[in-house]
Amino acid sequence: MTRSAKALPVLMYHHISTSPGMITVSPDHFAAQMAHLANAGYTTIGSMQLAAYLGGEPLPKKSVMLTFDDGYLDNWVHAHPVLEAHGFTALCFLVTSWVGEGCVRTHARSGAALPPLLNHRDAEIAIESATADHAILRWSEIDAMREAGTFEFHSHTHSHVRWDQVSADADDKCAKLAYDLADSRATLKARLGAASDHLCWPQGYYDADYRRVATQAGFRHFYTCEAGSNYPGDEDNAVRSITRLEVRDRPASWLASRLWVHTRPRISWAYLKIKR
Ligand SMILES: [Zn+2]
Repeated sequence: MTRSAKALPVLMYHHISTSPGMITVSPDHFAAQMAHLANAGYTTIGSMQLAAYLGGEPLPKKSVMLTFDDGYLDNWVHAHPVLEAHGFTALCFLVTSWVGEGCVRTHARSGAALPPLLNHRDAEIAIESATADHAILRWSEIDAMREAGTFEFHSHTHSHVRWDQVSADADDKCAKLAYDLADSRATLKARLGAASDHLCWPQGYYDADYRRVATQAGFRHFYTCEAGSNYPGDEDNAVRSITRLEVRDRPASWLASRLWVHTRPRISWAYLKIKR
């Protein structure tokens, strides 16, 4: 085996869509970014491999993890077909109360008219007004993506509510978060057969209470919105925070330069120090 990866960059996406927005990458840029990863010889890493890597197991020298937050419909329409074409796999973090019922909709390579895709603001409005189905994946699409091997699905809580902002006190916050996480795990277990120990914090927020409650709920890999790469054994092995790199709506050359930096531990650290 060739030398193991010295660092694992974890990329963070939200929308892949022709409806532009702050946290949206266009389908053209996404396709170019994935083609770059394929041409450069990158391996996409799943949750089990990440856990093993953090525990000291080697990974292919050029490894990267792809993550998608919130479970938007456009992930099925525009990301799934591209990942399938390259044999890539990604993680998607679902807000389990948002996911809907119904048959599989068309995607970009199904050769039929595509479902309308909402920009981020309109997606938020749809979710608030109980029409999340216009913006969010259905269980049938999730099943299709799992079957194709393009996506694994993990928890992003059941409600996406920031309990630290709406609770009366710390006890109230902890109790509501515990229910939220239990509901999410129960839903994933019922719909997918299992709930993993990988959790993505809504809006990247966590505190000591959040970590304790989530650990008690059965989670031990916590995906943050903090920038950085990931290394084996640099934290208490029982619980791990995963740092991520937010992907911009930029060409493949931009992603290539980010990966050049963040697959090199010393350069990545220096870069992040300067940026802060
Ligand atoms: Zn989110």
